[in-house]
Amino acid sequence: MNLRPRLVLLGKQGAGKGTQAVRLAAQYDIAHLSTGDLFRAQGKLGTEFGLKAKQYMDNGDLVPDEIVMGVIEECLAPGGTLAEGFVLDGFPRTRAQAEALEIVLDGRPIDIVIHLDVPRAIVVERLSERRVCVKNSGHIYSFSKPPADGHTCDKCGGEVVQREDDTPEAINRRLDTYERDTRPIREFYGSNDRPLVTIDGLGETDEVFARCCDAIDAVL
Ligand code: AMP
Repeated sequence: MNLRPRLVLLGKQGAGKGTQAVRLAAQYDIAHLSTGDLFRAQGKLGTEFGLKAKQYMDNGDLVPDEIVMGVIEECLAPGGTLAEGFVLDGFPRTRAQAEALEIVLDGRPIDIVIHLDVPRAIVVERLSERRVCVKNSGHIYSFSKPPADGHTCDKCGGEVVQREDDTPEAINRRLDTYERDTRPIREFYGSNDRPLVTIDGLGETDEVFARCCDAIDAVL
């Protein structure tokens, strides 16, 4: 198949979706859509939509489905940024979003859903330590492995900060929400015969990336 793949990355916050999505987008020449990045950018711009989303995000709650779907439908419209291949990172996050996505996919469904599996105790540790570049959220550091000068991204010069929702309270709230609202999506894809692969998200970034590529290449 020559078409660019349509991928969904599922997994807990801190499982490595952002890191892998950036690499997969480059590898397969596809668009990367992180709904979290999109909302954060709108929040910074101070748009009405962004400020509304920020209230939910700062508490560690999900942005309501109707707001999320409005954005996604625009991206997936013919000629939109996701008209061809893509990797979705942080979307869908509820069963209702997964169902709505099927409808807006214009008859060409998702090629593969990759579930990056990392135990909760490990992601709590990763999220508490995480530091991100404000320019490129895929440029990720940690408290113990900061950029060379401590606060400037080695790759792009952006400021490296701790996310406002990476506090212990918000982390636990987000992970509880994941268990309640996002985990059931796996059953949804399984029962709709979409290729769903669980990949061990532990190990070096390169190793996890190689596992993702093997899984994708096997279905293309
Ligand atoms: P992320 O960067 O993917 O961890 O997302 C950060 C925050 O953005 C989440 O905790 C939610 O508040 C919000 N968010 C991102 N994607 C979605 C989505 N698909 N549905 C609802 N809320 C979302």
